[in-house]
Amino acid sequence: MTVEVVKNYINGRWVESKSKKTQDVFNPATGEVIAKTPMSTAEEAEAAIAAAKAAFERWRRTPVFTRVRHLNRIRAAFEDNFEELSKILTMEQGKIIDEARGEYRRTIENIECATSIPSLQMGYNTEDIAAGIDEMVIKQPLGVFFCVAPFNFPGMVPTWFWPFAVGTGNTYIVKPSPQVPLSQVKQFEIIDELGLPKGVLNLVHGGSEVVNAMIESPDTVGMSFVGSTRVGKLLYQKCAEQGKRAQSQSGAKNFLTVMPDCNLESTVAALLTSFYGCTGQRCLAGGVILAVGDIHEPLKQALVEGAKRLKVGNGLEEGVQMGPLASKGGMEHVLKCIDEGLKEGADLIVDGRGIEVPEHPSGYFVGPCIFDKVTPEMYIAQEEIFGPVINIIQVKDLDEAIDIIHANRYGNASSVFTSSGKTAREYQYRVKAGNIGINIGVAAPIATFPFSGMKDSFFGDLHGQGQDAVDFFCESKVVISRWF
Ligand code: NAD
Repeated sequence: MTVEVVKNYINGRWVESKSKKTQDVFNPATGEVIAKTPMSTAEEAEAAIAAAKAAFERWRRTPVFTRVRHLNRIRAAFEDNFEELSKILTMEQGKIIDEARGEYRRTIENIECATSIPSLQMGYNTEDIAAGIDEMVIKQPLGVFFCVAPFNFPGMVPTWFWPFAVGTGNTYIVKPSPQVPLSQVKQFEIIDELGLPKGVLNLVHGGSEVVNAMIESPDTVGMSFVGSTRVGKLLYQKCAEQGKRAQSQSGAKNFLTVMPDCNLESTVAALLTSFYGCTGQRCLAGGVILAVGDIHEPLKQALVEGAKRLKVGNGLEEGVQMGPLASKGGMEHVLKCIDEGLKEGADLIVDGRGIEVPEHPSGYFVGPCIFDKVTPEMYIAQEEIFGPVINIIQVKDLDEAIDIIHANRYGNASSVFTSSGKTAREYQYRVKAGNIGINIGVAAPIATFPFSGMKDSFFGDLHGQGQDAVDFFCESKVVISRWF
């Protein structure tokens, strides 16, 4: 079987990259190479920028309802291709097919939300701020934006941004992770059929060379980044140096606090999904459980039973509950973190290393793991593992739990499990994290809400999705007028 090098989509045409450098794309369940990603050149990024720039003036003058009609067509076409899109996602990323379907449900909701742009973007008028003088705000698009996306949600993440950018009259370039280009290729093949004007949406594959070209170009106005904290902070700084708008949604270590008065059965179900869903490769995945007081022992036992029951395998097979890690490198990182935990003295009470999936001996599988007797200063309690590992720290009360959360550098999400409204309210009030779950294991905001984040999990002010995204992609212009 010949393995194809995927193409860029620039100015409404599929074009081969001239770059000789490529990166293999693997099916993580089988270890097979299924495609190659070109590491495109700076010139190719510039060609996409030029196309988006040329399309901008006409696109911004296109009436908002016409722009939104394009979004509606894309939404409907994604719906028509729902199963195929989900399968491609599982094939390149590894998550189980139901998780891929869930990701596409959210992808479509993002586009659906952006079809409300006629209301979201409307300015407001105030008459007679002084005698006979009116004042209004108009929200105008700025030009060419781009996103730099991670490997873990290859279908959805770009739709936190481009539907809002394009809906408000900007033009756009998507730069996927080179590890998972195929979901975006399929999406653009669908979009290509739908008559969107050339240059409005472009796709460029590659790595730092194309990203740097997009940041440094005088013809781009802003970047949305999603990925690790190291890269997110670096690119945010580079954008700031260039005077560009930037938002960097970055890494995470999410603490889930379990109070003695929780409903144990539903808490355990939520925790298992939080830590093992998407094989732990979610920025909102559970990172550490803070078990308060006496709940520690029964909670631990129930988690061990749940973890041992999970069926691990190829995400395309029915009945499989957890897929492989998305890459060999990702798997090695998880194994290294487990070694580190053992070295630092944590107690590995469920060991998923060396799990066998007989039909797929070359897949990147690590089974569910649980560490008990973790302490806050350990590496496994501090840093992102991005794999199926539960880490349990026993604490005496809520104050100690919150102190541990606040000592950590990240602030993406945090949850509390309790039946006390007072405890829940105190938690949401005090905990410094962008997304708070109350009896929810994965606090993932829907498309109308900002995808929040604090501390080292986010650099910027306006977030992806909803009204925040509309404001990020628009400049507010104030007009004060008097007529004689
Ligand atoms: P990553 O930072 O390695 O890569 C993200 C993107 O940046 C990719 O497109 C990559 O090609 C590009 N990139 C990498 N190095 C670069 C450089 N030096 N210059 C320019 N571009 C560069 O992240 P990843 O491993 O793909 O994704 C996993 C991370 O993403 C995790 O830390 C996870 O928590 C985070 N994440 C965060 C959110 C959020 O909303 N906060 C959502 C999803 C994932």
